[in-house]
Amino acid sequence: MPTSVASTSLLGIEGILVEVEVDVAPGIPATRIVGLPDAAVGEARERIRSAIRAAGFTWPARRITINLAPADLRKSGGSFDLAIALGILLASGQIHHRGQRALAAVGELALDGRVRMVPGALPLLLPLIEAGYHVFAPAPVEVFPGIPSDLVSRVRSLDEAARCISTGQSAPSSPQPKGSPSGSDQTVAVEFSHIRGQPLASRAVLIAACGRLPILLEGPPGVGKSMLARALHEILPNLSTEERGEVASIASAGGHGAAFPSRPPLRMPHHDITVAGLIGGGPRMTPGELTWAHRGLLLLDEIGEFRRDALEALREPLERGSVDLVRAGRAVRFPARVILAATGNPCGCGELEHPSGACRCLPSARRRGSFSLSAPIRDRFPLKIRLGRPTTPLSELPPGERTTLEARAQVTAVRAALADRSGAVGRTLPSGHDAIEGFGVRAWSQVERIATIVALLAGREVVSREDLAEAVYLHGDHW
Ligand SMILES: [Zn+2]
Repeated sequence: MPTSVASTSLLGIEGILVEVEVDVAPGIPATRIVGLPDAAVGEARERIRSAIRAAGFTWPARRITINLAPADLRKSGGSFDLAIALGILLASGQIHHRGQRALAAVGELALDGRVRMVPGALPLLLPLIEAGYHVFAPAPVEVFPGIPSDLVSRVRSLDEAARCISTGQSAPSSPQPKGSPSGSDQTVAVEFSHIRGQPLASRAVLIAACGRLPILLEGPPGVGKSMLARALHEILPNLSTEERGEVASIASAGGHGAAFPSRPPLRMPHHDITVAGLIGGGPRMTPGELTWAHRGLLLLDEIGEFRRDALEALREPLERGSVDLVRAGRAVRFPARVILAATGNPCGCGELEHPSGACRCLPSARRRGSFSLSAPIRDRFPLKIRLGRPTTPLSELPPGERTTLEARAQVTAVRAALADRSGAVGRTLPSGHDAIEGFGVRAWSQVERIATIVALLAGREVVSREDLAEAVYLHGDHW
């Protein structure tokens, strides 16, 4: 009788349900895998045959048909091995399913029957857990926080999985690998209060963190732009449980470990990066830096050096908070809720259009400067801060007023207040504000948001004229 074991295939960073149907029928011994498998799935036959023998079972000398449905979804990789092997054992009557719940499995098999970890184990398991299957997964996999451990049997070998099915029990619950968050909550790499002499930029960084607003820091080399951007990452609050699951899922799909980080990710791509590298895509539909930075900070250091096509490609996904791509008729969506921070040198010397000095850069240097960015790209940054060289030696300047941990607490508080009043922003503005000229709709809504945060940081509910003035100043491009 044909049997069926559920599994999943990775499309982008999402697990898509795949039904693995196995039929073992009398006839000339042969094995066929149908349903658009790639070469790696085709080779599964050899791995599974060896693993079944190593587990002490026999490979049926009959006609074996393995169908992976839906047929229009291309299946790749070795993650179906365990499901196929269990299907063969069930269909040939070597084991019997005694449990209540339908079976699902994710994992690659080694020739000796061990169950190997697969890239994307977390997103692969999630839809199966949600659909209520009894799921078999490789032992090293760390299941999402908050999911009862008895829903998933983490197994080391095919033999262990087969015994669980025969006895109708979950795998003896091996201790869940420690959810040691990478980077403790209280460790601080860049201390916010150590940033001296840049009170305006420090404040803009705090506002960017509160409102998740893109920020552009411009100035000559050596004024601490990169340090400020790193400090922005440091003052972001720790991830919520839900966010940790999202970030871990994405990391897992990329084949980077399966730990649940507590700190938001920080990505700093090199300026050579391509469109696909930045927003995702390519033949294998891999996510880009924008998605690796989901729920964290994407830092473009020296934005003027980046390829313009890559920067243009960022615009829409940043607006939507996701990257939408289509491959073989299937829509793929990569989450991309990031804070974008960029540093830039206006020309080469950094003095272009600055009252403090005269720029003598050649046109070629200016073309690589951040002032040469197109207006639509500059407009994406509600906070544009021009940093000058401090005239006093840094050591004589007072330190910043907030420590990193104090700033994190403040960001958390302001974000909560913003969430409470979402939609009510305009109503709290002072009357007559529409008198300010020269602002487009986008720019004005950015200024409103900044002003609201400025007021909340001061513990006020209503935005004052001074708050608005500060917001206009931080919005930049008005010197
Ligand atoms: Zn210059």
